[in-house]
Amino acid sequence: MRMHDLLEAAARDKGTALAIIDHDGARHSWADMAAGAAAARAALAARGVRPGDRVVIVLENSAAMLAWLFGASQLGAVVSPVNARLTGPELERIVSHADAAAVVFTVDTGPAPRAHAEAFAAERAEGPVGAVAITVRPGAEALPPEDDPARQVGILLYTSGTTGQPKGAMLSQTAMVASAAASREARDLVSDDLVYLALPMSHVFGLATILAVTTTQAAARLEARFDVARLFAALDHEITVLPAVPQMHAQLFHHARAQGARRYQGRSLRYVSSGGAPLDPAWKREAEAFYGLPLQNGYGLTESASGVCMTRNALGDPDISVGVPMLGSELRVNLEAPGASPAEGIGEVEVGGPQVMLGYFRDPVATAAALTGDGWLRTGDLGRFDKDGRLHLVGRSKEMIIHSGFNVYPAEVEAALTEHPGVILAAVVGRRVEGNEEVVGFVTCTPEAGVSEEALRDFLRDRLAPYKVPSRIVIAGALPAAPTGKILKAQLLAHFAEALEA
Ligand code: ATP
Repeated sequence: MRMHDLLEAAARDKGTALAIIDHDGARHSWADMAAGAAAARAALAARGVRPGDRVVIVLENSAAMLAWLFGASQLGAVVSPVNARLTGPELERIVSHADAAAVVFTVDTGPAPRAHAEAFAAERAEGPVGAVAITVRPGAEALPPEDDPARQVGILLYTSGTTGQPKGAMLSQTAMVASAAASREARDLVSDDLVYLALPMSHVFGLATILAVTTTQAAARLEARFDVARLFAALDHEITVLPAVPQMHAQLFHHARAQGARRYQGRSLRYVSSGGAPLDPAWKREAEAFYGLPLQNGYGLTESASGVCMTRNALGDPDISVGVPMLGSELRVNLEAPGASPAEGIGEVEVGGPQVMLGYFRDPVATAAALTGDGWLRTGDLGRFDKDGRLHLVGRSKEMIIHSGFNVYPAEVEAALTEHPGVILAAVVGRRVEGNEEVVGFVTCTPEAGVSEEALRDFLRDRLAPYKVPSRIVIAGALPAAPTGKILKAQLLAHFAEALEA
């Protein structure tokens, strides 16, 4: 099975049924989507794209983006979906690293695609779901032919770059299909579901979700970008499933409160989930109070084709684990890895199964570091299993701060910060100072809270051991974030250098 087989099955079984409500309100059936994919395939083939070539797709969430994705897959090309809001240099770095044969975009999506169009003489291509621009890069080298879908690279997905430069994870066709099936099973998706998708399909979480919708032959309502007021309004309109990153849920309940809405009033919503970043206990409580539904927490990575672990909790369950392995995935904890605390059963989480990436594109050194000899993924996340087999994450080994010889896990300090009623977002990183590592926090606050740095530190002193309390907490208007809303921690110290000097 390959990704486009899911689309072909949906068009065959439920051709006239609703597939996509586009961000502009246009409605497309599964037959429309299949016709769009066929046109995209033909447009790429006409421009000389061959099986094994990389096709970079720089489109915001839309029916068009999905049609190009499936069309490129039908052709046997490797699809590399890229966020339309990257800067020019970020986009060019990916296009050239991916050695792309073609780049598909619309010039109105942002300055980077516009600059790319000018530099590379873009051609206009008509598709059934709108016109796009395409540039062709002659001389790109195709990957060798591969008949086995478990070895055939279907998606080349660049990581968020939360901790450094984005890396290109090669995900097989089988990995994507397995991920779709796991996501469907964990959420008990049915063909009547309408899934709200503001997560970018250029990120693994959004991509796996739209493939889950396709394999279920359900429908999705797409947003080109996350807008909390649009989500709040959409909840009244038949949405049944809402997957989002925790920051989106937090923004929603803050927005709802500002509108005087303490509880979700609609009747359709039946499943809400969080994933992609740590879920603070305070957010879980508040989100559940708003939705009146359990907020399930899922864990996954770009390198594991999205979710590998998920909770199945009842409403109000205080469990803040990431749950149990999802369909097809296996998880284990390596107590000998760097950062492990064997006495507490904490080690590096490793993932096995069909969703694990084949490696990083043209980067054998990073691949050897990320994959074990038996093909398991070293996630760089530290965690432990509880007696019920649920995985608890304590932090990322690359993010762990060693302050005066003590290990500080940023996630624990962030969770304590967001317990403060005035704090919306919190991020904690280490800063090297004279051979030691200082704990530094960054927060955004509700305007009416009027909190001060000292008040926040006092608040933390009641909750955390002294070595975990940040020596500085910067209160900011906004924090640099990836398109999913994940905070770009690697940029925080440079971004707020001036504030930290003060
Ligand atoms: P880069 O690898 O470029 O630094 P990134 O790691 O942020 O970027 P992603 O693949 O988007 O790229 O993120 C995967 C990471 O997100 C996981 O390794 C884990 O640290 C974190 N994560 C995902 N889901 C959860 C969750 N439910 N709880 C806690 N952390 C999570």
